[in-house]
Amino acid sequence: MKYNKEIIKEKAEYCLNCKTKPCTKGCPLQNNIPDFIKYIKEEKYEEAFLILKETTVFEPICGRICPHKKQCEGSCVRGIKGKSVSIGDLETFIGDYMLEQKESQQVNVKNINKKVAIIGSGPAGLACAYLLSQNGFEVTIYEKHSKAGGLLRYGIPDFRLDKKILDQWLEKFILNTNINILFNKELGKDIQINEIKENYDCIVLAFGSNKSKKMNIPGDNLDIVLGGNELLEYKNMPNFREKKIAVIGGGNVAIDSARTIKKLGADSVKIIYRRTEEEMPAEEKEIQEAKKEKIDFLFKTNILKIFKDGKNGKIECINTKLVHKENENRKNPINIENSNYVIDIDYVIMAIGSTADKCVTDKLNVKKDENGYIIVDETFKTSDPQIYAIGDLSGYRQTVAWAARSGFESAKTIIEKDLK
Ligand code: SF4
Repeated sequence: MKYNKEIIKEKAEYCLNCKTKPCTKGCPLQNNIPDFIKYIKEEKYEEAFLILKETTVFEPICGRICPHKKQCEGSCVRGIKGKSVSIGDLETFIGDYMLEQKESQQVNVKNINKKVAIIGSGPAGLACAYLLSQNGFEVTIYEKHSKAGGLLRYGIPDFRLDKKILDQWLEKFILNTNINILFNKELGKDIQINEIKENYDCIVLAFGSNKSKKMNIPGDNLDIVLGGNELLEYKNMPNFREKKIAVIGGGNVAIDSARTIKKLGADSVKIIYRRTEEEMPAEEKEIQEAKKEKIDFLFKTNILKIFKDGKNGKIECINTKLVHKENENRKNPINIENSNYVIDIDYVIMAIGSTADKCVTDKLNVKKDENGYIIVDETFKTSDPQIYAIGDLSGYRQTVAWAARSGFESAKTIIEKDLK
């Protein structure tokens, strides 16, 4: 998506420059949106970048992949009576402009001889590493894959985020001489927590929670049931060509899995969701893209079991109605009796949420909650005072911008309190 300056100016002029900045409040990173847009109106793009740089390091990434309608654009005053300001497009433009303009923003940063290990180079880990490194900390990132980016590279398909942009942005605007990344180092396999604890002043766990949850229904463990998170991360796909696929879930992982599989030649892909379209956690524009690509949606539908009839896979579905329960804001889906029906499928993709890898977190000796997330305080510190846990690993809101915020928040505490 490339915009010319005239179109961008038009999009910027649509902003009312509200003094109360509701859009900023809607942004997990609290980006100063009215001010950066004001500079775009004046065609002062580097100044706009400097405003954004105060609170984020992911401009061309968040601009492209954030669920804007549920964050900044969802709070825009313009959206009350019509269309919100295209904040995501404006942020993307600034990021892309800076990529074209600058060779590198990186300067040699000071070194204060404090060592922090970060496990995982996704948005949370990178945000934390960036802020620590800018303050003179020596950061070592242990990354299990062979490239940096975590979920940005291994969770979001190329059709939503071009990895060339990610590579260029990391190189020019995030990584620097105080950040050393050790690749192919997986916690619990290639490196152990005790070893790291001995060698660093502080440890920040940022390896995400990418184990797809199961529904705990009959047939959940059949070989035709695959996890959406793992499919996207490892791209270890069976041959989906001409197959019938059901994707269970309503978030971005469900949409990304469905679109990826459809592009691989599946005959039909159905997304099955218990609630209505309006309640899907996925970003609206992604839902519309999926529809354009002829992905079907079964809303207000639950599944009761997955089974095989000979070699043929099948799922038993049931319609739901939404019922309001006392003391709950959201209506709950309840199965409608005798509305069961069966559909044929070749594969079922589970995309109903994810948890941290229990095999890894069990060995960390930190407290976890009943869902397997690591328990942290408001500064993201775990029950072990030397260890922080940020991003999805602590169950923190689960979007890229919220993950980045947890990275910044933890870094601020390390800088201001822990390792002063
Ligand atoms: Fe501009 Fe909308 Fe933010 Fe108001 S709420 S400053 S119109 S982006």
